[in-house]
Amino acid sequence: MAIELRTPAQVEEMRPAGRFVAEVLTALVDAADVGVNLLDLDALAHRMITERGAESCYIDYAPSFGRGPFGKVLCTSVNDAVLHGLPHDYVLQDGDLLSLDFAVSVDGWVADSAVSVVVGTPRQQDLDLIEATRDALAAAIEVARPGKKLGDIGDAIGSLARSRGLSVNTQFGGHGVGRTMHGDPHVPNDGRAGRGLPLKPGLVIAIEPWFLATTDEIRMHDDGWTILSADGSRGAHSEHTIAVTEGDPIVLTARD
Ligand code: MG
Ligand code: MG
Repeated sequence: MAIELRTPAQVEEMRPAGRFVAEVLTALVDAADVGVNLLDLDALAHRMITERGAESCYIDYAPSFGRGPFGKVLCTSVNDAVLHGLPHDYVLQDGDLLSLDFAVSVDGWVADSAVSVVVGTPRQQDLDLIEATRDALAAAIEVARPGKKLGDIGDAIGSLARSRGLSVNTQFGGHGVGRTMHGDPHVPNDGRAGRGLPLKPGLVIAIEPWFLATTDEIRMHDDGWTILSADGSRGAHSEHTIAVTEGDPIVLTARD
């Protein structure tokens, strides 16, 4: 694995990308509501990218796990969709659970972040599921410190999930972030404490717990991108790009 560590000056250079991703997700969460079309959310993100002079990480993206190029700038995953949701002509309904995942490059540095919300009247189980992903993300960020290992991050996420009665799918997880969106190391959403890559100052990674309400199995939508739960239960996803430092981790994509 070619793991690149950033200097403190480079981490500072990555802040504008993180701030912009946070700004766009905040605007999208504000805009997402009953009666809003997913394509309009993608268009809003696209306008903000153009105005900022940023570069989408998604629009030309054609990885092995999708039918590329993606063609949109935002992932919108609704209800039983949880990851890589390809925006399509769909009007949000009361009680929909919406996950928004957004990554761009600003001045040559990438930031990547995701958030789940309910539009309209929420069901308690959906709020609980979202809260589990947020709490897992917070627990994982808390252990992202020198002296800890990659397995401590996975353990923090997996343990939190199990404590809420959820199981974890490890087919997709976090990743190194830098000049491109997906670098080494892979950051699994489960693991053994004290094992794996030692965390060092300058390591910049996306941590992204995602859980499904009643399964850990997934299936692919006919669109060739959208990842759905195998049993139709709902999913949620929380992601931040963070930098390990000598002190507290820096959450580059923190929203106000
Ligand atoms: Mg993401
Ligand atoms: Mg990511």
